[in-house]
Amino acid sequence: MGRLPRGRRPTFLRLNDRIAILVVDLRPNESRVGVADVNGNFLSQESMPTSRDPRIAAEGLATRIRHLKEVHSDLVFEGVGISLPGRIDEKTQHIIFAPNLGWADFDLKGAIKRATGMRVELENAANACALAEVWFGHPEKNRDFVVVTVSEGIGAGVFVNGHLARGLRGMAGEFGHVSLDPNGPTCTCGGRGCWEVYGSSRAALRYYHEFSQTQEELSFRDLMGLADSGNEAAHKALEKMFQAIGRGIRMIVTGLAPEEIVVVGELTRQWPQFGSLIEKEVGSAFLAGRAPRVRPAEGEMARLRGAVALVLQKHFGPAVEAQK
Ligand SMILES: [Zn+2]
Repeated sequence: MGRLPRGRRPTFLRLNDRIAILVVDLRPNESRVGVADVNGNFLSQESMPTSRDPRIAAEGLATRIRHLKEVHSDLVFEGVGISLPGRIDEKTQHIIFAPNLGWADFDLKGAIKRATGMRVELENAANACALAEVWFGHPEKNRDFVVVTVSEGIGAGVFVNGHLARGLRGMAGEFGHVSLDPNGPTCTCGGRGCWEVYGSSRAALRYYHEFSQTQEELSFRDLMGLADSGNEAAHKALEKMFQAIGRGIRMIVTGLAPEEIVVVGELTRQWPQFGSLIEKEVGSAFLAGRAPRVRPAEGEMARLRGAVALVLQKHFGPAVEAQK
């Protein structure tokens, strides 16, 4: 209880800081596993390789989770939150679409639950980031926004009229697989010329190889480092990628008229140099009214924070109801 000069005495509420959440940011090559408190602060995090075989990947994750639980035996774990580049059927809770992981129908939730004995929540990475915006941001300000995650692919989490749009079998938000050119490069989904083959980190690497006439193996992080050190091919590759992202966001802006677009991913580190390319595209995309705000997500931990939010959302109730 607090004291005030007059009026009712306020009761201060604070979430128990011994309660923790195990979080996983599942990615095609390398995943991150961490421990966070309920306020979204990270107590530890580490990386591990991701197997192409979902069963082996699930076993590896469960082992890390059990290990972290032992290391932090002073904490009470509320559950496991996993954000991943794919879509989960709401009814069966199976992963039904994850072309960049290369996993077909798979019950990751069941596998981790059986191996760890913990409660497990799965969510598409972009949806999880949208929930994090609501949990850790200012939900009263945000009724209509779209989170765009850019990594090996492009995903979108659509928050519309104060709710997350899920669509039939949880498939809403796959703007990354809208074909922009039926004769374009092939995509992991089996289609051609999808938005993500032009705007993802894989696309940037392809551009770099074209511009530099080399085939050297490098990561997207290496590419950003090259651009920072003045490499022209790397600079041009990132320019082309950011422009493609901006062009794709135009279709989201025109179709959904969000108030805000939040961009998540390693690329946000380059926002000071290239962010204006996205802002310019989006700024000219609205038909009437005004253009939405575009901003990079705060910090590189956005996807892990998304995984925190989805456990909080499930276990403590939604942070926001539809507001007028
Ligand atoms: Zn595709």
